[in-house]
Amino acid sequence: MRSKQDILLCDLDAFYAAVEQRDHPRLQGRPVIVGGDPRGRGVVSTCSYEARKFGVRSAMPVKKAIELCPQAVLLPVNMPRYEEVSGQVRQILQRFTPDIEYVSIDEAYLAVKSGTGFQTGERIRAAIKDDLRLPISVGVSINKLLSKVACGLAKPDNIKTLWPEQIPELFWPLPVTVIPGIGPVTGKKLGRNGVKTVRDLVRFPATRLRVLLGENGLLLQQYASGIDYRELELERDLKSISEETTFAEDVYKREQVLIVLQGLSEGVGYRLRGEGFTARTITLKLRFGDFRTITRSRTLPGPVNNDSDIYRTIRDLFIRHCGRPPWRLVGVKASGFERGTQISLLIPTDAEKKERILLQVKDSLRDKYDAHVLYQAKRLSNKEPGDK
Ligand SMILES: [Mg+2]
Repeated sequence: MRSKQDILLCDLDAFYAAVEQRDHPRLQGRPVIVGGDPRGRGVVSTCSYEARKFGVRSAMPVKKAIELCPQAVLLPVNMPRYEEVSGQVRQILQRFTPDIEYVSIDEAYLAVKSGTGFQTGERIRAAIKDDLRLPISVGVSINKLLSKVACGLAKPDNIKTLWPEQIPELFWPLPVTVIPGIGPVTGKKLGRNGVKTVRDLVRFPATRLRVLLGENGLLLQQYASGIDYRELELERDLKSISEETTFAEDVYKREQVLIVLQGLSEGVGYRLRGEGFTARTITLKLRFGDFRTITRSRTLPGPVNNDSDIYRTIRDLFIRHCGRPPWRLVGVKASGFERGTQISLLIPTDAEKKERILLQVKDSLRDKYDAHVLYQAKRLSNKEPGDK
């Protein structure tokens, strides 16, 4: 039995490196590494498939990547450029369906009418290739899990289906770590108990699995059978708006983090105002050098959507909870939405009036021109440590 919808996962291949290769023809066919400073603790953000042949991988120290592939061209992360191209990709995807969940800068789930998934996927690939000259892989199935796995099978630059009847042949022989939620630690735990492939997990006794992994184990077993009830998180039933940045290298200076948080706050504010929302709760996300991740929230007395209120809250949360450097990732989230513009219970001061007008001007500029013109902070976050 087929569900009413086909689900597609569209994922651009080696996105940052592919954009660089397209923008700079001399880089085509060459190993390209986009990442941090090799003199510091920089890590690889993305590498081209030519570099992967040498064993270079994302998240590897750039220093090590250069050892593996000395002839590689090393480029800094140019986030504003990749976000601009990502916006162009989104515009193309929106031609095919309004039902889209954007997972990340280069990845999105789409829901289309049952029976049209493969054909839509081929048309998307052709459109991205014709309009943007970028490689993209597409997985097609009936739920998020299976389309994600299908997309992994399609890579690079191809399209694959994974229908329920193909599960035993295509899904079950794969290593169990292809299932989302099974990282290296859980993978090892399962491996010690003889569970190496997805098929092994399907066959593993549920009672033992519960002892091993708790209730989560049963969910993972459901995934292994190809069952996934997760809905697409569509923009139109948004519950939160968030932006986050992973630094190209660990950051040690609080001021540097605050500059980035200001940019992220502005991004969140812009999107809130665009959706016509105000938010009551502001959340800071912080990942430390040792990968420990915390979130700290504050619920405000009244809902807000202007940049300075969001940033003031975030700044305060950061100063209270920042702990010890280094920091690897920061994020800003707004939730607890209400409809409408921010209203002040007090008569607005001249400064508030001024800010409101300034925001209107900023937003209209962002709508009109490159969305990143006013995005100073994100740019700064991509600075090399040498040019502080
Ligand atoms: Mg990708």
